[in-house]
Amino acid sequence: MDRESVLHRDRAEAAERRGESVAASPQQAMKIRVLGCSGGIGGSLRTTSFLVDDDILLDAGTGVGDLTLEQLARIDHIFVSHSHLDHVASIPFLVDTVCWMRGSPIKVYGIKETLDILRAHLFNWKIWPDFTQIPDGDKPFMVYREIRVGEPIQLGSRRFTAIPANHTVPAVGYAIENERGALIFSGDTSTNDALWKVVNATQNLKYLIIETAFSNKERAIAVASKHLCPRLLAEELEKMRARPEVFITHLKPGEGALTMKEVGEAAGRWRPRMLENNQEFSL
Ligand SMILES: [Zn+2]
Ligand SMILES: [Zn+2]
Repeated sequence: MDRESVLHRDRAEAAERRGESVAASPQQAMKIRVLGCSGGIGGSLRTTSFLVDDDILLDAGTGVGDLTLEQLARIDHIFVSHSHLDHVASIPFLVDTVCWMRGSPIKVYGIKETLDILRAHLFNWKIWPDFTQIPDGDKPFMVYREIRVGEPIQLGSRRFTAIPANHTVPAVGYAIENERGALIFSGDTSTNDALWKVVNATQNLKYLIIETAFSNKERAIAVASKHLCPRLLAEELEKMRARPEVFITHLKPGEGALTMKEVGEAAGRWRPRMLENNQEFSL
């Protein structure tokens, strides 16, 4: 972040603490960097996470662990798509690592059902301490922020809106926007007509990141676990009237090349490309 951006962020945070809405900063470009985009781990593979500018995470899979201590300490906001471990695994370590270095709590955003699961099954004092009560409930290291599908959260010039997903647990994707354009991340999802309503209604949609977790031979597993395979992806893309650049994420380790070959065969006319770790998008 340059000095102007830091000043803007500091002013915005002060305004937010006073309960005022945060002013937009239209001149500022937004950077979205892939920290992890695999369905698993091993070698250079990392599970799902995106770093937006230097202060926001979209999901917090194992890729977060590649950030430096200084970078970790700058994370103020974490938007969670759903409660599965490959999307939240780094939140406990992140909060524990940087809490002593920060003056304000890390905000974890999710739909009510997702936050309830994190409370009951992750930050429950058994798997990990409840950092919303540490050091005390009045001034905690972490807070939950409940969001609703379709209701945007504005952070400076950046807007995050949860969008519908269709998965085995309550889940959302996200639309990330500023005045320059939009990026949509499907989250983990199977067949999902509601997603395409949002995609088709989004102004200036530049990028679509959509999952294809399994190859065609595992179609039955994809259906049962509410993910997509290449043929299902093609059926879904048929519903798209917008023409964003399409990137494929959440490929199963060891099956990336096969799945992308099948994606090319089934859905080639949308020119989908494999999402790469450290790839950066600019809006
Ligand atoms: Zn999942
Ligand atoms: Zn996943």
